[in-house]
Amino acid sequence: MRRSADVIIVGGGIMGASAAFFLRQRGKSVILLERDLVGQAASGTNFGNVRRQGRYLHQLPLSNRALDIWMRLPELIGEDCEFVQRGHLRVCYTREQADKLEAYARDARDYGLDLEMMSANALRAGFPYLGREIVAGCFDPTGGHANPRLTAPAIARGAARAGAIVEEGAEVVGITRAAEDFIIEVRGRGSFTAPTLLVTAGAWGGKLSALFGEPVPLETHGPQMAVTEPLPYRIAPTIGVSTPHVYETVYFRQVERGNIVLGGSTRGPASNETNRANVLPENILGQMEQIRRVMPGFAATSIIRVWSGVESYFPDDIPVMGPSASVAGLYYAFGFCGAGFQIGPGVGDVMAELIATGATTTPIAPYSIARFAG
Ligand SMILES: Cc1cc2nc3c(=O)[nH]c(=O)nc-3n(C[C@H](O)[C@H](O)[C@H](O)COP(=O)(O)OP(=O)(O)OC[C@H]3O[C@@H](n4cnc5c(N)ncnc54)[C@H](O)[C@@H]3O)c2cc1C
Repeated sequence: MRRSADVIIVGGGIMGASAAFFLRQRGKSVILLERDLVGQAASGTNFGNVRRQGRYLHQLPLSNRALDIWMRLPELIGEDCEFVQRGHLRVCYTREQADKLEAYARDARDYGLDLEMMSANALRAGFPYLGREIVAGCFDPTGGHANPRLTAPAIARGAARAGAIVEEGAEVVGITRAAEDFIIEVRGRGSFTAPTLLVTAGAWGGKLSALFGEPVPLETHGPQMAVTEPLPYRIAPTIGVSTPHVYETVYFRQVERGNIVLGGSTRGPASNETNRANVLPENILGQMEQIRRVMPGFAATSIIRVWSGVESYFPDDIPVMGPSASVAGLYYAFGFCGAGFQIGPGVGDVMAELIATGATTTPIAPYSIARFAG
């Protein structure tokens, strides 16, 4: 077994898998170490929203880069991961919120995101299942959704085909430095070495950054998900409610097999010690109540499964991405605050560019770990 490479990546979610793929495109040898199975954590349990709309404006260049990769997945990795580009619609219940959607649409245009404001009448003509409480909406025809269970494993398979070594069941339990190299200890498998280390360990990233004197205020929570019985296919776009009230937040999408996947409302408890995230029944009941406001026909639908996933959040709601502030050769990309699935392929591409060239053409300065120093 090969035990050294140009770059070792710790964590095989969508970030680690994508970084491995794009590092191989840039000719770097790569070993990806994943504690469990690739895509088993947040990257495989998420809602599957591939949306640019609603992201912080400073994140749109990264999100645009990611969308370009989503659209080229079949060409890059030979699989589409069930990515469909059938639009992303945000709807609201008040004029005040409609003004906010309109202001965002105006600002987002400067970042290459063209959104279309829609009146209540236009919405009901285009999407007749929407409820009467909705006063306006904002539509992105380029948004859509994908199957999170398929995506990170498919990208990791693409990376492996391109020459990356992907080690599953490989838990990193210690990291030290010897001269120029990182010595990475894997439980039961001895050590691996590389001059460059990329930490893409999601909700567990802070445990690894702390080993290098860079602790971060990472919290873990579990977004609450549910899926319905299969119904005739009617809902093409991903639809979400834009509201300042957390309890009103609900979003949903329908897959061609007919099931409606939904999420939103208050998050549940999640732990990066037990690696578990819990569903609170009252949250799911709240989601069902809210989804009936958006789509009254939902009232007669049965939920067949609920789940959650361990996701990590920073107090400023943006991730850590970039080089370590104190250790040469060390890079981070973790803590994606409930919104890392869409940008995942772009994050991998940007981190590969940064590692291979020392710079990145997509701005990531706001995400520096240095913001937490001291
Ligand atoms: C329920 C839910 C719904 C969401 N919905 C959306 C959505 O619709 N759209 C969107 O854009 N985002 C969404 N997100 C967020 C998105 O899923 C995450 O931001 C993204 O998947 C994070 O990817 P990651 O690769 O950083 O982390 P993860 O997928 O968590 O991967 C990290 C990996 O590191 C591994 N690891 C940790 N420690 C070690 C170690 N010591 N050694 C080896 N391996 C280690 C873990 O086993 C894990 O596989 C959602 C998240 C959840 C949980």
